[in-house]
Amino acid sequence: MSKETILMIEDERPIAETLLYALGREGFGTHWSMTGAEGLAWFRGHRPSLVVLDIGLPDCNGLDLCREIRAESQVPILFLSARAEEVDRIIGLELGGDDYVTKPFSPREVVARIRSILRRVGGPHSESDASEEPPQAIGPFVEDKEKMRISYYGEALDLSRYEYRLLSLFLGRPGKVFSREEILSRAWEEPEMTMDRTVDAHIKSIRKKMRAIRDEDDPIRTVRGVGYALEL
Ligand code: CA
Repeated sequence: MSKETILMIEDERPIAETLLYALGREGFGTHWSMTGAEGLAWFRGHRPSLVVLDIGLPDCNGLDLCREIRAESQVPILFLSARAEEVDRIIGLELGGDDYVTKPFSPREVVARIRSILRRVGGPHSESDASEEPPQAIGPFVEDKEKMRISYYGEALDLSRYEYRLLSLFLGRPGKVFSREEILSRAWEEPEMTMDRTVDAHIKSIRKKMRAIRDEDDPIRTVRGVGYALEL
């Protein structure tokens, strides 16, 4: 069994060394790159199981690098962020990052996040899956669980991983009012480390994507003081 390799692209030596040590102790293989260019080159040659990506790099911006990686791979990406504004940009830009942690963080927290992401995606980025489930129509939506895709009025919604999980949760129980807490605990792997406003930010983004397809009242209802429900 080959062990999973984590590529870390981070220019701050103390941060990188602490994380590399923690990951090594947990049995992960690791590679450390201090620049985006070197990290991308290594990524292309080795296809690691997951990428830990700093946003402020000496030669480029981690958000742009994420876009480049995404153009060729669905490898899970965990962002390391120094500022809250960056977190907003990660969520807002919908770059397809899988999660983020803000500095300062504990190595243990980062390792826990990495484990949960890898669990969720089922080990080294598996592009194909054996289990076949035909796409299901629910109101104006069609959900293809196998491909983790949802279309709305016949057009594919370009959803991030969490947006997909969130909308899929709603589609499983139309009409049910989900509290933010419930949404966090069902759609997020580490709900205790995530904030309520993350749910709101993702809902906002899903609504925007639905509105781009059909500019009318979207079916997600906000239940004041409680959470959200899907009305079909
Ligand atoms: Ca940095």
